[in-house]
Amino acid sequence: MLKRNSMRFVAAFMAMLASFVAGRNAPLAAAPQHHDQVPGFYRQKVGDLEVTALFDGHGVFDPHWLNGTKATMDGVVEALHEDPRLLDVSDEGFLVNTGKQLILVDAGAGTWWGGGALGRLAASLRAAGYTPEEINIVLVTHLHSDHVGGLTTQDGKRVFPNADVCVAKAESDFWLAPEIAAKAPKDAQPFFQSAQAIAAPYIKAGKWHTFSGSELIVEGMQLVPLPGHTPGHTGYEFSSKGQKILFWGDTIHAQRVQLQRPEVTAIFDIDQNAAAATRLQLLPRLAREHVLIAGPHMPFPALGSLRKEGSGYSWVPVVFTDQWDENR
Ligand SMILES: [Zn+2]
Repeated sequence: MLKRNSMRFVAAFMAMLASFVAGRNAPLAAAPQHHDQVPGFYRQKVGDLEVTALFDGHGVFDPHWLNGTKATMDGVVEALHEDPRLLDVSDEGFLVNTGKQLILVDAGAGTWWGGGALGRLAASLRAAGYTPEEINIVLVTHLHSDHVGGLTTQDGKRVFPNADVCVAKAESDFWLAPEIAAKAPKDAQPFFQSAQAIAAPYIKAGKWHTFSGSELIVEGMQLVPLPGHTPGHTGYEFSSKGQKILFWGDTIHAQRVQLQRPEVTAIFDIDQNAAAATRLQLLPRLAREHVLIAGPHMPFPALGSLRKEGSGYSWVPVVFTDQWDENR
């Protein structure tokens, strides 16, 4: 017994000695690299409003998710060879602090979409100095899980326990109707299931509210119906001191293709003709009026405006700075 223990001791000692020698001979890392990035939020002044873009994650849009003419789509595939990041997208939600209320517009994916690449919104919100408990209202552009997944945990708990959630009645009725879900194609079923699971705890708590016209939900905010992507897809346009910002949901997915060619649709657009018509009607006004746009899938900070360029538009991004600009 004693002998076996002493053998063990010798073995352990030799191993320790070996690692010590190896450690001594290993090259010293003179400049260890850091691979973490800045927290995922960015604040922008819009009149008297403080608008904070909240990063939820990064993704890549597949060219097969776009529908355009053969010539357009051949061009996209060819361009991807030279520019592999052409269809990169991000996911964001946005916080509007009116000075009286904290309003979240869309909530990111949580754990309901994106296979772990998304779901950072709550962390971004905390990094920006707020807590989920402080949110008063969540305005939802539509009920796809990359926009509402962040509302609810997988075990059915509300992430924003004090918030009233507002969504278009047409949107809520569509995704939450068991008879519509039953008739939907098989690959659309997960969208219905997740929408229902995400909404359930808010409905139970009396915190799920629908609107069907131009009801006043928040002072200085107008509802902008943007049908096509989903039946009740809705934008929210805030005005303050002559400045406007439109939270446009999924009006555009792949901006470097669809702004030049607004007729190109995404397969996630439930009514593709209506989605294209909505873009063709909306984009000229946004360019003409220099409306600031908050687009959940635009490059971070997902804020910018449109400039007319040829037969389409180009994206004029808000550029990161570490300053709060009072004069914007
Ligand atoms: Zn989306």
